Amino acid sequence: MIRLLYFSNAMPGLSDDQVRNILQSSRKNNPVIGVTGVLIYGGDMFMQVLEGPEQAVLRLYVKLLDDRRHSNSQIVQMSYAKERMFQNWSMGVIKTNPLKFEHIKKLLDHRLEAVHAEVFAEKMREFVKQLNAEH
Ligand code: FAD
Repeated sequence: MIRLLYFSNAMPGLSDDQVRNILQSSRKNNPVIGVTGVLIYGGDMFMQVLEGPEQAVLRLYVKLLDDRRHSNSQIVQMSYAKERMFQNWSMGVIKTNPLKFEHIKKLLDHRLEAVHAEVFAEKMREFVKQLNAEH
């Protein structure tokens, strides 16, 4: 199993309906391919974590790259994972204010620390704890 985390820029003027459509597609498709994760939207950006079988996650990510509702996707982390962090979320969407997103974006600071996978995993665990506490 792998876990992939990326950031992207939301299409300018993206509506709530469009975000809802993305969530609907995800909830329909992801369970079929064994992918769980979370989608965070705020401050004109998306952050998504996808976890599941390697082929399924990579195929989905490639499909997402062609979606015009976002652009400039950057993978922040991709690693092998023994267990799911989001086992209860086929795909949850969380809307957050731009300020809070700045906080989440700190995960990007660790992008270059991929070698230190443990440091990053710890940051992710903190993040998941925070999400679970809030929702
Ligand atoms: P449907 O779910 O049947 O499509 C539903 C409706 O969505 C269509 O009627 C159409 O109006 C609209 N739509 C579909 N594709 C597009 C498109 N490329 N551009 C504009 N409108 C469109 N999909 C997943 O399956 N799992 C995910 O985890 C996931 N995460 C996403 C994260 C982001 C940030 C974005 C932007 C998209 C994500 N998507 C995800 C959507 C994905 O890119 C495809 O649109 C979706 O998988 C298509 O599903 P479907 O073929 O079953 O179409």
